[in-house]
This record gives sequence, structure tokens and C-alpha cells, in this order.
Amino acid sequence: MSLQIFNTLTRKKEDFTPVNNNKVNMYVCGVTVYDRCHLGHARNIVVFDVIVRYLMKKGYDVNFIRNFTDIDDKIIKRANEEGIDTVALATREIENFYADTNPLGVLNPNLEPKATEHIPEMINLIQSLIEKGVAYISDGDVYFSVRKFQDYGELSGRNLDELQAGARIAVAEKKDDPMDFALWKVSKEGEPGWENPFGAKGRPGWHIECSAMSMKYLGETIDIHGGGLDLIFPHHENEKAQSEACTHKPFVKYWVHNGFVTINGEKMSKSLGNFYTIKDILKDFEPEALRLFLLSKHYRSPLDFSFDFLKENDMALNRGYQALYDSQNIVSKPVSKDRPMPDDLKDAVIALTGLPERFFAAMDDDFNTALGIGYIFEAIRALNRLIQAAEKKPSKSLTANLEAGIKNIMDTASVLGIFVQNPGDFIRKRNLKVIEKIGITEDEILKFIERRNLARTEKNWAEADNIREELFKKGIKLMDGLSGTTWTVAIE
Ligand SMILES: [Zn+2]
Repeated sequence: MSLQIFNTLTRKKEDFTPVNNNKVNMYVCGVTVYDRCHLGHARNIVVFDVIVRYLMKKGYDVNFIRNFTDIDDKIIKRANEEGIDTVALATREIENFYADTNPLGVLNPNLEPKATEHIPEMINLIQSLIEKGVAYISDGDVYFSVRKFQDYGELSGRNLDELQAGARIAVAEKKDDPMDFALWKVSKEGEPGWENPFGAKGRPGWHIECSAMSMKYLGETIDIHGGGLDLIFPHHENEKAQSEACTHKPFVKYWVHNGFVTINGEKMSKSLGNFYTIKDILKDFEPEALRLFLLSKHYRSPLDFSFDFLKENDMALNRGYQALYDSQNIVSKPVSKDRPMPDDLKDAVIALTGLPERFFAAMDDDFNTALGIGYIFEAIRALNRLIQAAEKKPSKSLTANLEAGIKNIMDTASVLGIFVQNPGDFIRKRNLKVIEKIGITEDEILKFIERRNLARTEKNWAEADNIREELFKKGIKLMDGLSGTTWTVAIE
């Protein structure tokens, strides 16, 4: 099956055929840099990261651009509150953006242009719109005449007359029509501004930034333009109008939008006190657990956050890594005996060998990560059944199936950015974190093991059992192997 993507413009799933053969030009609206990234940003960033990873996995040559909006009303307001200039605020928040998102393991876009570094391109675009008669200057501001663009409302499915009925008609409005939107605004006293041909110093409107940067780096018609659902109107509707009014070509072939994150069923907002930043979440949770949670629902569906649900994802991640680690241990031990795979494990083998095909089919259906994750965890349960069988009766065929299973799981999950760590490293890191919470050091555990070894050499089995029991009550499990006794934490 070929890849199908839901296109917001046509409101249906369409076969994905890039404008230019194998090349995919993709633009995602980036953050306005005035505050830390929250869960809504995290979802957007991870969703589009997975879309890029999957397109690359399918062999496309992806050119991915995500901008920074570093000039905006919110930035000016926050900079004034803090008594710093907008450049200092934006620079600090861009650093924070990386501090927040790098732990999530997102791939770097090919380019991350900043709006303020593209003012001449925006001015050129605005001038061309004025020349074409679809934009006009009013007291140094420049507005786009929505009535002059026939397809206005096509993307968001809104009718201009209905929109207008709801629009607030301000007194002393500089616009010809209340629905017209600003391409350029005269800077107020104390605001940053740039020289321009329209009048006094001014600054660009938000929408024109993305059109100018997308067209500069990716051309007049790009393949995918992405963002959150809240950007469809007015941001993307306006981007589309001003770009297409200029080029008379489609601006974007596939418009892709991700759904919102709600908190216990409510809209996330600072005033409701249910606002979580990525930084807050990662204090207590593994970044991959957050990724797993963010991808656990289809990207267009709403995603409801709760700490319980995140915890479930964290436990699932742990179970997965534990199974991969245990399998690796079995695979690393030589086995001489061969016997056929037991009949009752045939379905487990199918869950493992068939994983890539099922996973790709799910992803080809408009990036259905929820279904893909379901298949991955089905494969992990299958892996655990093989582990149990191999622990009882090791055989060459079991080892071979475990080895193929590890590879299939890690290969497919890497498209989601999950199970990308060395399982042994993950388990060790997790164990150290858990014992820190328990309040015991690794040295203390090793002393327990030493005392138990001594008891065993003295054939004091009761004492040896007591020590094992004592540790187990704390949540630490001892495992006796050929190369001595090792410890791990008993999860769940
Ligand atoms: Zn944008």
C-alpha cells in the first residue's frame, strides 16, 4: 500500500505523491519564542518528527524546515515586562527551546530560519501583493484584501460572509474590510521596527513570515505544510491566501494538522492551573515515555494527558526494554542444542516476523502511530513468551527467533524514536534511578551480595535466603548466573 495522508484542504485521505518525484519539501510552523515549551508544543514537535522519520524510512529525500517566530506582540509584551529587549528574550527562549526539545530525541530540521532574519523577503512579498492590487497601504500599515482572493476560506471551510458577521468592527479601523489582515504594522513607540517602503518603521505580521520563509527555501509549491489544529484559521488560511495571490500556484499540496492536548479532559491553560511544560514532565519521566504517550493516539485525535496515563506509558517502555535486554542476554549465550520451535509459539513467531509489514501498513494509513504501537507491544509480549521458553529449554531456533525479534522491534520502533537506547544501558540507568528512590546505594547492594555469597560458601542456606528476601522486600531482585550474582529492580 502506498502512503495516504489526510489533507485538511480536501478533508480526505489522499495518496501521497510529492510535487518533485522523490523529494519532499516540508514546512512546519515553529514556536513563538517568549516562553518555555508546553505539552501542546511537545505533541506538535514529536508528531512532525515522526512524519519526517517515516518519510525518510520510505526512502524520500526530505527537506524539512521549521521556523522561529522571534518578533510578535507576545514577545514585545513579555520583553517589556522583563525589562529586556526582544532580541535578548528571543535568544534566551530559543536556547530554552533546544533545552526542552533535545531530550525528546527529535531530529534537527534541515534549516530553522528566524523571522527577523528575513525582513527583506517579507517586504518584497508584500510589495508584490500591493502591485497586484490585493494589498493596500493604510497609514503605514499594509493589509491584505481578503475579498480580492477568491478562494479565501477554502482551507478552513469558512465562508467569508459568515466570518464577517461575527467580526468586530472597531472604531477608527484602518482596514477597508474587517476581515482584512495585516501584512505589515507600523511599530508603536518603543517597539522594534525596520525601515520599509510603506511608511514609518514597522514590523511584519505573523502570517507573512511563514509564506516568505517557505517560498524562499522550499519554492512556490511545497509538499507538506504542518502545524497544530489551531493554526488552520486564521494563520494558514492567510498564509495560503497571500502566497497564492502572489504566485497563482497552489502554495501547499498537503496541509497536515495535529490535534490538541487536553488535561483530564479540559483545555490546558495557565489560568486553570493545569499547564505543564516539557521541563516539568521530564523531571520525573523518561523522555521516551513522553514520546510514547504523545504518539499513543492518532495525531489528528485529541490527546488527553494525565499522570496515570503517562505512568502507564512509562511502565510499558520499561517492560519493552526489559524484554529486549533479557532477549539480548539469551542471544549472547551459545546454544548447542537444536529442536524445532514448539507449536504453541507459532503465533508469537508470526507477531515478531510480521511486525515490520503490519507496522508500515499502519503508518501508511495517515501515520497511525496508535495502531503501530499496538503491534510493537504485541511483538514484545511475543518476545516474552519466547524468553520464557528459552529459559526452560534453550535451543538454536529459539535464539534465532529472539535475535530476529529484537531487530524487528528496534528497527520499527526507531521510526517513532522509541527503543533507540541500548537496552542494557537503559536498564542500568533505570535501576540506579529506582534504588536512589528506594534509598539504597549500589555499593550497599553489592555488600548484601557479598554477605550472601559468604553464607552460601558456609552452606548457611537459611541466612543466604534471608538476605535475598530482605533485598526483595526493598524491591531489589537477585539473579544467580554462571558469572556470579547480579541485581536488578523488580518493576511493577
Ligand atoms: Zn506559520
